[in-house]
Amino acid sequence: MNAPEPELHRLAAARGAPRWAERPWFATLGAPLARPVAPLGLPAPHWVVRNGSLAAELGLADWLQGDAALQLLAGNAQPRGGTWATVYSGHQFGVWAGQLGDGRALLLGEIETAQGPFELQIKGAGRTPYSRMGDGRAVLRSSIREYLCSEAMAGLGIPTTRALALVGSPLAVRREEIESAAVVTRVAPSFLRFGHFEHFAHSEPDTAALRALADAAIARFFAALAGGPRPYEALLAEVARRTAHLLAQWQAVGFCHGVMNTDNMSLLGLTIDYGPFGFLDAFEPGHVCNHSDSEGRYAWARQPGVALWNLHALAYALAPLVGGPEQARAALEGYESAFGDAFGAALAAKLGLRALAGCEEQDRTLADDLLQRMAADRADFSITFRRLAGFVSAPDAANEALRDLFVDRAAFDAWARRYAERLRAESSIDAERGARMCRVNPKYVLRNHLAETAIRRARAGDFAEVQRLARLLERPYDEQPEHEADAGFAPEWAASLEVSCSS
Ligand code: AMP
Ligand code: MG
Repeated sequence: MNAPEPELHRLAAARGAPRWAERPWFATLGAPLARPVAPLGLPAPHWVVRNGSLAAELGLADWLQGDAALQLLAGNAQPRGGTWATVYSGHQFGVWAGQLGDGRALLLGEIETAQGPFELQIKGAGRTPYSRMGDGRAVLRSSIREYLCSEAMAGLGIPTTRALALVGSPLAVRREEIESAAVVTRVAPSFLRFGHFEHFAHSEPDTAALRALADAAIARFFAALAGGPRPYEALLAEVARRTAHLLAQWQAVGFCHGVMNTDNMSLLGLTIDYGPFGFLDAFEPGHVCNHSDSEGRYAWARQPGVALWNLHALAYALAPLVGGPEQARAALEGYESAFGDAFGAALAAKLGLRALAGCEEQDRTLADDLLQRMAADRADFSITFRRLAGFVSAPDAANEALRDLFVDRAAFDAWARRYAERLRAESSIDAERGARMCRVNPKYVLRNHLAETAIRRARAGDFAEVQRLARLLERPYDEQPEHEADAGFAPEWAASLEVSCSS
């Protein structure tokens, strides 16, 4: 059914309401980057899930209880300063796609909080001047995935945009089938993407706008680089460094983004735009989580290389500011070693190894050999590392629960002997090491089947499972015995789940 369109009204003051910045920073850039666009809200909106912890951090806990918040976050009201859409372009699956966003996300503005300023964005509140053929809407299914994974990543300690709330509505939206509309509210220091810069370099070459954007971004988010001799090269190098760290963290928890187009890359090094993502179940380095990715461009093992490719697209866009593509490319030189060091350190932590002088290379080989064994036997990524935390290093220990994950037991035993020897070399104490490892090897990750179960219930009007998962994933490293089932292997039916770009 198609409910009548709600009326847009200005917000009356509400208790504990957000303190909106007089003029958000992106608005100061004005056209062609940002344009005021009024939302087309959701009829008969209702809460699906609200993020009490984040609201408390931002000082919005009381406000988020009320109807004023519901109407604002459904797109049925505007803050005093209005709402904005920003335009960006990008490369999709390695091909220049021109202007492609933002056709359905509106910036509500910028709020002042005890943690500093944050941008608030609602996704799915109607068409914008940049919507192309799209309807400007988002469906409940994909919005639940975005909400849950934003918060799962935050729980894992991985840089990400956050989700404050999810509002549903009976409004019908056509995708492969008819679904219902939803709006997710996202929060981040900024939603700036590589694609914002590419827009001015490719679609409508406009060096003045590009420079204004780069200067504003540096002044606001990379203040330490301002006033240096080569600020744009420094910006590229810093974005490369942050991206390398982000990718190391993705790889270390078996996260696959699914659609690493350049427009889905955050300038601040945050995970952004959760669509057809996946967490590894049985370990397969070539795992492709996005059903629309027929060539496997965004397979798990390829992600670090793709990130560098995307950084090159950003560098190419900034080339006019640094004297040419060669200079721009040179600014990215640190990426590969930054990634290698960060991923090496993450793997050592996953194995519970403390740095031993001269052991770095040997430790990396030990970790790589484990990954190779896991891949050969398709051992579950998260479960293997979590069980490794319980590894007993005594020579006669059987380590059965861990060993059972491997088909080639002899090969595992050989690896386990090397691991035990390495642990003895640093006089590792099993209990201590295990506790440390449990803080980096999550027990709970948002596997597809968990999200899917929550989605099916939500589509039937029951949001309790979405809310339960959101709470569970706030503490993914903690034992939560009442949720033991969520830490298990993916059920057989999960193999037939297909997630795609449809959202
Ligand atoms: P995505 O592949 O989801 O990152 O989408 C790329 C861009 O396409 C987004 O930034 C949006 O601006 C735009 N887009 C996606 N879906 C829609 C839609 N239903 N209506 C308008 N624009 C859309
Ligand atoms: Mg996107």
